[in-house]
Amino acid sequence: MCGITGYIGYKEAYPIIINGLKRLEYRGYDSAGIILNENENFKLRKTKGKVSDLEDKCTDLNTKATVGMGHTRWATHGVPNDINSHPHVSNNGKIALIHNGIIENYNTLKIMLISKGYVFKSETDTEVLVNLIQYMQETQQEDFATAVRYALNEVVGAYAIAVMEIDRPQEIVVARLSSPLAIGIGENEYFIASDASPFVEFTKEVVYLEDGEMATITLEGGVDVHKIKDNAKVNLIIQELKLSLEEIEKGGYDHFMLKEIHEQPKSIMDTMRGRLLVNEGTIQMAGILDYQDKFLNAEKIIIISCGTSWHAGLVGEYLIEDLARIPVEVEYASEFRYRNPIITDKDVVIAISQSGETADTLAALKLAKEKGAFIYGICNVVDSSIARLTDAGSYTHAGPEIGVASTKAFTAQLAVLTMIAIKLAKHKGVISEEKFNTLIAELETIPNKVRDVIKNTEEQVKAIARLYAKTSNFLYLGRGYNYPIALEGALKLKEISYIHAEGYPAAEMKHGPIALIDENMPIVVIAPKTDHYDKIVSNIQEINSRKGNVIAIVTENDTQVRNMVSQAIEIPDVSECLIPILASIPLQLLAYYIAILRGANVDQPRNLAKSVTVE
Ligand code: GLU
Repeated sequence: MCGITGYIGYKEAYPIIINGLKRLEYRGYDSAGIILNENENFKLRKTKGKVSDLEDKCTDLNTKATVGMGHTRWATHGVPNDINSHPHVSNNGKIALIHNGIIENYNTLKIMLISKGYVFKSETDTEVLVNLIQYMQETQQEDFATAVRYALNEVVGAYAIAVMEIDRPQEIVVARLSSPLAIGIGENEYFIASDASPFVEFTKEVVYLEDGEMATITLEGGVDVHKIKDNAKVNLIIQELKLSLEEIEKGGYDHFMLKEIHEQPKSIMDTMRGRLLVNEGTIQMAGILDYQDKFLNAEKIIIISCGTSWHAGLVGEYLIEDLARIPVEVEYASEFRYRNPIITDKDVVIAISQSGETADTLAALKLAKEKGAFIYGICNVVDSSIARLTDAGSYTHAGPEIGVASTKAFTAQLAVLTMIAIKLAKHKGVISEEKFNTLIAELETIPNKVRDVIKNTEEQVKAIARLYAKTSNFLYLGRGYNYPIALEGALKLKEISYIHAEGYPAAEMKHGPIALIDENMPIVVIAPKTDHYDKIVSNIQEINSRKGNVIAIVTENDTQVRNMVSQAIEIPDVSECLIPILASIPLQLLAYYIAILRGANVDQPRNLAKSVTVE
């Protein structure tokens, strides 16, 4: 994962890089480092810990350098400590490198370099690459960028890198394979970063490197892009950056996660804007319409994703099978890619990923494409790797999501999947015109209902959080459409509060988890009025008989469940297929407030990072 950033221009590089690292910290935050080139001298500081710890180490830096780069790490090779932190410098002290990704053949390369007399200080794969560049420079006697290129051609793995040479303060070389890299182009200044957030206030012109490309960035020559493989020149495609500063700041909230929970009425509306056209009685999604034959004639739809997006995929399965009557399978990308899946050109594969860079999902998608499947992407980040690889797709227009625990991206994914399912159902002729119209009219009201749920439940959820903040286990139960929401509720709690939580289909309780229930076990039951209402009421009875504490999500004005449980949180009465979006909201708030009471860092939970660009 990791965030990389760099600057070359005429301004002081230090504050730009530190600020950029803070914006990228969501990508990794176990260590941070910075290197500046001042009058052909490297000034290097790096440390275990956060960017704020790095700042503490830089108080004596006293630099006016106008070129440099920084890194915020999510360790893959070697524990988070000062030495393993990036930037890494070559044995001769002349080349500095920052890296996001994994060099898979690092050990073979390291053994070769050791045999040539190289010495390694860190346990990282990255230090191997920087020394391989030195080795190429010395043995091939080529210019700096060519040495970088030769080294990269020996590397197996994934990377976004930025490299500087001490004698060339006017130049940074960058390259990418599988990990993202953006270059911001200003007036006589250039910015480098894993995403565009570090330079949003400086320029709106951005170049996204493609896989297998590298660029030499110099003040005189600008951005010169070539293929890593054969050095073939690549034309520069400059795009307009659509990000605003406001979108990536906390805007008065204590945490990005809370801000993003509160943004959901807008993010869901943005996701549906221009697509859900109730007055015209239609859902406009070009990606679906243009390829509707593929979807409607698909032998099966396979949804591949990871983490929270996988939970959205499970809701997608209920939606598409229930409404459109097309068989759906949902797979963890990491399992799918390695288990020789049966997949043909009659299948449709939908990949769901907030960042559009999730390494496992990307690899699974490439596999599906090789096997001839039609591949469709649901991503939040525009122009991300998955968005570019797929045959077609739908963006979730949730805006930048910075809190590591996904909230608004998840509900936006649900909104997209709901629209896809309703649209496919209509094209397939398996729902009536009337039902179609009722559903789309109801879907249009969801953003306001989400607003109501936040407004009406936040204080109550805060109070519930106080009751359970000290507990060490939680169960989440749901049936049908709400089973994946139980999984998601449990995931949210465990990832930010570190409380052990498990989600289960409610009826599975009696096949094991019921053994855990006693008076110390809080159990969140999603129990809205649906066709399974009576069944879930029975499940609650079973819990009560074992003295468990039930927190229920119920339909407004419910009395039956309310009278059976310790706490009942109301959500508006909507069609069953729309409940997942509403039921998610109190569960997000519950996880947030419990984590806050436990003093956890909700935006940067331990060991996690947002954009999972490693396997
Ligand atoms: N493999 C490098 C390290 O462990 C970079 C890690 C990453 O991109 O997350 O330092």
